[in-house]
Order: sequence, then structure tokens, then C-alpha cells
Amino acid sequence: MTAAASGTGSEFTNPNLEQMFSAEIISERVKAIGAKITRDYAEKDLVVVGVLKGSCIFLSDLIRHIDLKLSIDFMAVSSYKDGTVSTGDVEILKDLTNPIRGKDVIICEDIVDTGLTLFRLMEILGSRGANSLKIATLLDKPEPRIKKELVIDYCGFQIPNRFVVGYGLDAAGRYRNLPFIAAVKDPDLI
Ligand code: 5GP
Repeated sequence: MTAAASGTGSEFTNPNLEQMFSAEIISERVKAIGAKITRDYAEKDLVVVGVLKGSCIFLSDLIRHIDLKLSIDFMAVSSYKDGTVSTGDVEILKDLTNPIRGKDVIICEDIVDTGLTLFRLMEILGSRGANSLKIATLLDKPEPRIKKELVIDYCGFQIPNRFVVGYGLDAAGRYRNLPFIAAVKDPDLI
């Protein structure tokens, strides 16, 4: 058993991880997105909705660069799977605490892959009378996209079709605490 697998090694220097975006690069990009949202949402009634758990770190950093009155809320969803393939339907594990009628909502996601989860979430929240509904995602993986019509309004980085972890993104519940984003070299060694 490797040191990482036994839980005794450093996660931050795990040799099975290949760094893609450093903490500094992420910070600059998140700051720029926050500045853009600040410009776009002046005079609006902004609610930033985080999709748990992956978006928690992105959301925490992002809202501190949005210089406006805003509130936050959270949802937790799980995708229904047919074997290993997503069916596109989602189960709401935790719903919003407050109504979004008349609000300007930004859904904050960690990563858009097939787009099935966010597409369904847009349908669900779209039926609740929000004044506007947009998407901010830290990462966009366009290659496996099924819902090509999904519009991503704010995006941190586009990435190739690799499995990534860190800065909120997990593999089997681990690695969310990495300050950087890394691709997993060998998924069997997770
Ligand atoms: P989608 O419905 O767009 O296919 O799936 C989005 C969800 O799949 C994300 O919120 C995330 O939980 C998970 N996901 C997709 N790609 C990755 C990845 O590269 N790394 C991690 N950690 N999760 C991913």
C-alpha cells in the first residue's frame, strides 16, 4: 500500500496528481469573475446558489470578490444513474432555504461535464419565478458535453477531458482541500 493510500502521506504532494492550475492562478481568475459579476449585477437582487459539495470553495472565494449586496443559498443534488451512465434526472437532496421569486440567481458549480445535472437544475429553478438565472462554473469540460445548448455565463477555465480534483472537487470524498486543481494520473490509485 502506498503512503497516500494508507492515509499517512501528503495529499498536496501526492505523486498521482498532476497540477493543472495553481492556487495563485485560480485566485486571479476568481477575482476577475467576481469583478465582472459586480459590474453585471449592480442594482440587482443577487442570490448566489452553491451546488454542494463541490462548489463550496469556489463560492466562498467568489462572493468575497463581488462588491454588492447579495445572499447565498445551497442545494444538494444527486444524479440518477443507469449503471454508470447519467440519466439526466436529478434527485434534490437539499433544497434552497428561501424562495427565489423575483431574484437574480447565479448557480455556482464546480465543473460542467455532460451538462445533464446543470441542465436539469436550470429547469427546476427556472420554474420558480426568478427574475434571471445564470451559471457560474469554475471549470468547463466541453468535450463530453451532451447538453450542448447549456449556456455558461461565467467560467473559470476550460479543461480537457480529464478527471480533476482539488479546490472543492473530490475523488471518492477526498482531495477537496487541495489549494490547487490537479488531474488524476491513475484513477486506480485513488
Ligand atoms: P454533469 O452532469 O455535467 O456530467 O456532471 C457534473 C458533476 O459531475 C460535477 O458537479 C461533479 O460533481 C462531477 N464531475 C464531472 N467531472 C468531474 C471531474 O473531472 N472531477 C470531479 N471531481 N468531479 C467531476
